[in-house]
Amino acid sequence: MDRLFNVSDKPIIIAGPCSAESLHQLQSVSYHLQSDSRVAMMRIGVWKPRTRPGGFEGMGEPALEWADKVHSLYPSLPICCEVARPEHIELCQQHSIDAVWIGARTTVNPFLVGELAETLRGTTLGVIVKNPITPDVDLWMGAIERLLKAGIVDIAAVHRGFSTYNNFGYRNNPLWEIPIELRRRMPQLPLLCDPSHIAGRRDLVAPVAQMSLDLHFDGLMVECHDDPDSALTDSQQQLSLTDFTALLNNLKVRQFSDTAPSDLQRMREQLDIIDTQILKLLIQRMRISKDIGAIKHAHNMPIYQPSRWQQVLDRQIQNAKQMGLDEQFVKDITEKIHAESLRMQK
Ligand code: PEP
Ligand code: MN
Repeated sequence: MDRLFNVSDKPIIIAGPCSAESLHQLQSVSYHLQSDSRVAMMRIGVWKPRTRPGGFEGMGEPALEWADKVHSLYPSLPICCEVARPEHIELCQQHSIDAVWIGARTTVNPFLVGELAETLRGTTLGVIVKNPITPDVDLWMGAIERLLKAGIVDIAAVHRGFSTYNNFGYRNNPLWEIPIELRRRMPQLPLLCDPSHIAGRRDLVAPVAQMSLDLHFDGLMVECHDDPDSALTDSQQQLSLTDFTALLNNLKVRQFSDTAPSDLQRMREQLDIIDTQILKLLIQRMRISKDIGAIKHAHNMPIYQPSRWQQVLDRQIQNAKQMGLDEQFVKDITEKIHAESLRMQK
């Protein structure tokens, strides 16, 4: 049987609303998606995990009945939805659902993933595993391994970013090194990116999507809606149908040369990520340094404190020795950072 997640048809595009809200909405969205041959599957949210109680928690079973209707209209458009309990999977099987996804809040829980894997055993459903909300590659891989052990083969991973304290303007911190490590460990597994949940904002969806394709991801899961401003969930990040088509039109799908050593490419990507991290850490350091400057001013203290500077330098040279880095090199960069700190404090 053909796989739903087939990397020879790259990029694999999954799109649709965060939540299924009405039959009318699903009809408008599915009409748009089925007419675009680049779209492989429609996503719909049937049961919505909400961080705090009181919000819209998904339509449940009526949404599955709408999926049946969409399926009768467009039988060649597969449909997927999130499942978090065994009963959800059973209901999906009674309706026109072709694949399910395990959401970030479920992937963190090995007990639940184990139960879902047992319920999926023997079904023909494709399974998407979103990364856990915490940046833990073992937990992500563990969920996939549990499904493989239950005999499920049609699996894709989706990177949707991580809940961390400092997200640098994104809703979820992308921490690209985590999906890259998953790919290193499971090179055959289709790996998609969900730029909508990483970005959290419409204007950032396209650059995040492009970044993921540049990093060899196999496809995207994108949220789109016929009227995003009135969406019941994730209104800020859902694209209008027109913007969704524009996103696909503007994506640069690069051909990666098979002859270039793939290890070199992968290692260069890792270096780029680390370089970005170095800059982000420097920004954090400069911010604290600026605050220290304000305190010095308030207390009429001099900006430059020779004994403190000596301590900083000695400590870093000591670190360099312990870590096996060249002492002169570490002294040079520490001096540069200190000079910039002093400049910021002025
Ligand atoms: C979603 O896809 O709408 C969703 C809730 O995803 P996640 O599990 O990535 O937060
Ligand atoms: Mn959403």
